[in-house]
Amino acid sequence: MSDAGDHLTANIGQRLSSRVVIVTGAAKGIGAAIAKRCAAEGASIVVVDRDDGALTATAEAIQRSIADSGRASTDTVSVLVGDMSEPQTITNMIELALQDHGRLDGLVNNAGIFGAYTRFENNSIDAFDEIIDINVRAAWLAMQQAKPAMLASDGGGSIVNMASMAAMRANRGLSLYGLTKGAIANLTMNAAAEYAKHNIRVNAICPGPIDTDMLGAVEEFIDERHSEVARSQITASIPLGRYGRPEEIAATATFLLSSDAGFVTGARIPVDGGQSLE
Ligand code: NAD
Repeated sequence: MSDAGDHLTANIGQRLSSRVVIVTGAAKGIGAAIAKRCAAEGASIVVVDRDDGALTATAEAIQRSIADSGRASTDTVSVLVGDMSEPQTITNMIELALQDHGRLDGLVNNAGIFGAYTRFENNSIDAFDEIIDINVRAAWLAMQQAKPAMLASDGGGSIVNMASMAAMRANRGLSLYGLTKGAIANLTMNAAAEYAKHNIRVNAICPGPIDTDMLGAVEEFIDERHSEVARSQITASIPLGRYGRPEEIAATATFLLSSDAGFVTGARIPVDGGQSLE
């Protein structure tokens, strides 16, 4: 068995059977892997993204794999194209979960951008507002609006927020990104403390470098002409000696959404190949 995450599909069970989960930023990367894994674990899902074409392709691929598994696929995946920086998108996604599936059990606040790669003093007010609206305000509003929907279901739920190792350390050139991920880690603790009495668990995942388009863009910003040099520099900072795979974040998210994590709340879990040890 490989340790590079290749075995993950072999471990799929039905831990989310009859649950309804919303995944934001589900068109590609980590969000697409989470949506795929949640559906494979038996959940009905609402996938949300502003990238219409990629979201539709991902939703269709998930529907095909559900059909291949023999499960009824017709009403399993609901698609919402929307911008998470618009508060109306958040209202719409909760309503869609209730309208199409009649309940809400899980919410994965994954949509995010890394913003401009620039020196601390060069960030503009517009850049500040944009990254706050997408990376922080959307997750905050979604956590607020998910609560009544989860309580109306079975009186409980699980929220997973996508923070980052950037929440815990300085990342030169990405100060606004780090600010938003620090905010997500803190919001996670506060929501967990207040929602615990409602049996709504709230946890954050803090990924290290994961092989997605977002990280590819970071590599190019670090060294436009030699992104492979940036990649080997980043890889050298990871004790396990490689980037993580989106499926490895999806495995952690699925655990947190499931009752296997029934006593886990307020956690901020590094999934980073040991990078935070350095
Ligand atoms: P990605 O760029 O590959 O995918 C992000 C998805 O979010 C895209 O489909 C994009 O269209 C969507 N999105 C962005 N802004 C949106 C908006 N305003 N409204 C709707 N959808 C929007 O990124 P990824 O690497 O898969 O990252 C997913 C999450 O994981 C992000 O929150 C990111 O900060 C976090 N993260 C990633 C890494 C990494 O190394 N890749 C590390 C730590 C944390």
